[in-house]
Amino acid sequence: MRDSLRAADAPVEGGPGKLVLSLESTNAISGKQCSSLPGFTPGPILLFGAPGVGKGTQAKALMSAWGIPQISTGDLLRANVSQGTNLGKQAKAVLDRGELVSDELVNEMVAERLTRPDTASGYILDGYPRTLGQAAWVDVHVSGKGSSALPIIAVSIEVGYNQLLRRITGRRSCPVCKSIYNIYLQPPKVDELCDLDGTPLVRRSDDTEEVFEERMRAYQAQTAPVVEHYRALGRFRQVNGEQPIEQVTADVIEAVRRLRS
Ligand code: AMP
Repeated sequence: MRDSLRAADAPVEGGPGKLVLSLESTNAISGKQCSSLPGFTPGPILLFGAPGVGKGTQAKALMSAWGIPQISTGDLLRANVSQGTNLGKQAKAVLDRGELVSDELVNEMVAERLTRPDTASGYILDGYPRTLGQAAWVDVHVSGKGSSALPIIAVSIEVGYNQLLRRITGRRSCPVCKSIYNIYLQPPKVDELCDLDGTPLVRRSDDTEEVFEERMRAYQAQTAPVVEHYRALGRFRQVNGEQPIEQVTADVIEAVRRLRS
C-alpha cells in the first residue's frame, strides 16, 4: 500500500506550476496580501465546504500566498486512479459513485503525505477530514505536531445548493495544462477547447448531476457533523463562498489570521 501511495501522490500537488490559476485567482494571491503577514506561520489549516465551493482554488491561493502545501485527498485519490495503483483500483468505483473511501485508506494516505518536510510550517488539508472517524485521527495525530506546534484551525466555505450544482455540472478542465473552466460561468472561448493550448476539455467522472447529489448526501450525512465538531472547539470560521474568488481568498486569509492571533 505505502509504495503505491508514494508512487502516485508525488506529482499531484508539487507546486503552483502544476495548475494554471484563473486570472481572478492569480490576482487574489497578490504580493500585497503576502507581505501584509511578515513572519506569519499558518500551521495546519482544515478547509471545509461542500463539493464545488472552491476549496481547491482557495487552497491553491493560500499555498501560493504562504508557501505551504495543499493536501487534497481527492487529488491524491484521483492520481492513484489515473496511475492504476492498487489503491486507485480499490478507490475508483467508490469515487465514481460519489461515496467516501474508507477512513483507514485515507488516513494512511494523509499520514504518509505529512511525513514530508514541506509541511513543517503548515499545510492546507483540502477535503479532509470528511468523517468523524477521520477527525478523531486528525485530532490525535495532527494537532500541535511539527515544528510550529500550532493547533488545528478550520475554515468552512459556504455556497448555496443551486450555485454548487451549476459549478459542479459545468466544471471542465484541460488535461494538459490543468486550467479550469465552467461551461456556464467561465466558458472557454471556443466550444469545449482549452483557451491556452486548444486541447479538448474533460469532465471529472463524478461531476454529473446524479453523482453530485450523492456527494452532497455524503457531505450532509458524514462531513457536516465534522464541521460542527470544529465549530464547537472554537478554532473555526465560516466564509461566504458566493463572492468573487479574490474576495473569498481575502476572507479566508483574514479568517486564518484572526484564528492565529
Ligand atoms: P473531492 O475532489 O475532494 O471532491 O473528492 C472526490 C472524491 O474523492 C470524493 O467524492 C470521495 O469519493 C473521495 N474522497 C476525497 N477525500 C476523501 C476523504 N477525506 N474521505 C473519503 N473519501 C474522500
